[in-house]
Amino acid sequence: MTFNEGGQFEGGRVRTRRGGAVAGGGIGIGAIAAFLIYQFTGVDLSPVLSGAGGGGGTSQEQEGTVADCTAEEANADRECRLSATVQSLDAYWVGVFDASQSQFVQPEVYSFTGGTSTGCGQASSSTGPFYCPPDQGIYMDLGFFDLLQSRFGASGGPLAEMYVTAHEYGHHIQNITGVMERADRGGSGAESDSVRVELQADCYAGMWAGSAATTVDPDTGTTFLEPITEAQLADALSAAAAVGDDHIQEQSGGSVDPHTWTHGSSEQRQRWFMTGYTEGTPQACDTFAAAEL
Ligand SMILES: [Zn+2]
Repeated sequence: MTFNEGGQFEGGRVRTRRGGAVAGGGIGIGAIAAFLIYQFTGVDLSPVLSGAGGGGGTSQEQEGTVADCTAEEANADRECRLSATVQSLDAYWVGVFDASQSQFVQPEVYSFTGGTSTGCGQASSSTGPFYCPPDQGIYMDLGFFDLLQSRFGASGGPLAEMYVTAHEYGHHIQNITGVMERADRGGSGAESDSVRVELQADCYAGMWAGSAATTVDPDTGTTFLEPITEAQLADALSAAAAVGDDHIQEQSGGSVDPHTWTHGSSEQRQRWFMTGYTEGTPQACDTFAAAEL
């Protein structure tokens, strides 16, 4: 996925937090789940991140924002890519909300390293990318994209990274449209609301991707992205497959147990992304109405 030549992305949209302390050497999913965050995967990354970002509680968090980026920088640098992707998502979802004459609110987006405090409690990189409903914040440690390849076996690539961002943005859409409030997030299992919420976020990510090459940047009047190539789409689908609950269970040496699923299988995550990609409507992404997930 490539940003169009001549694109310019204003700074300030994504906030940065560097070197925040990781309380107690890292808080995994178990501790933070009480706050109902919405993660990209259903897995605690602390075993593969042991020692990462551990400042022993003495480090000083430094705050800033991602600066202005050109399209060239967005194509080369992860933080610029995140900033440009978020602005593309903003423009896309504003259009969807305008069409249905409803009120749109942008999410906050944070790129952090180590640990950071959020409206959902103290988080660390071991949480992976997540959305926190109370502060409407998307929290991303960009090092996760390396893990997506090394730990989960995805093929990598820019559209894979954008898919992760677009998935978390999808959770924000669910928050402001009331889907989250209506969903019962207590349960797990292949037919659970938890899985329906996650597959819908994948579908929303696909909606954005399907329109990303035709969405116009209101600041510059040019489209954000060049048309997606087959190879780039394959990268996004590879990432979706890598974080399927069945794949993660197989990888960790356990048996595949759909009763414990929270995010859906590899096949489901790919298929719902593609449903959004090809259909392009919120109605097509109604996983709660779907007879079969
Ligand atoms: Zn999610």
